[in-house]
Amino acid sequence: MNLPHTAIVKAPGLLPMLYKVSEIADELKVPERTLRDWLSAGAPHHRDERNNLWVNGRLFADWVQSKRKQKKITRLPDNQAYCLRCKQVVELTHAEIIPIKGKLIHIKGACPHCGCTINRGGRHERTG
Ligand SMILES: [Zn+2]
Repeated sequence: MNLPHTAIVKAPGLLPMLYKVSEIADELKVPERTLRDWLSAGAPHHRDERNNLWVNGRLFADWVQSKRKQKKITRLPDNQAYCLRCKQVVELTHAEIIPIKGKLIHIKGACPHCGCTINRGGRHERTG
């Protein structure tokens, strides 16, 4: 789930009231289609007897927050990197760690899936 920055910024401004899907989409400046994707991905909403979808602004904002927390980048181990071609974190083959300066390191390796070369920066935490 990739939430656009504008949606993350604007979500806390939603009121604790029921919005139509189109209204929420308008508030967050995202296409209605995107919003419907989020609803099917688990964003809080309910459907009335006329089959209209309603979204509680407050609950929705909480959901956006929880998604955002989940997105927090955790530091990867030295032998892993994000492959831009495969669009996922992969375990590098032939990982090479090149010290740069101080704790900074440069990690070079190859993607096990597509074989492309991946370079990433890193940091060595030295204890003692
Ligand atoms: Zn790859």
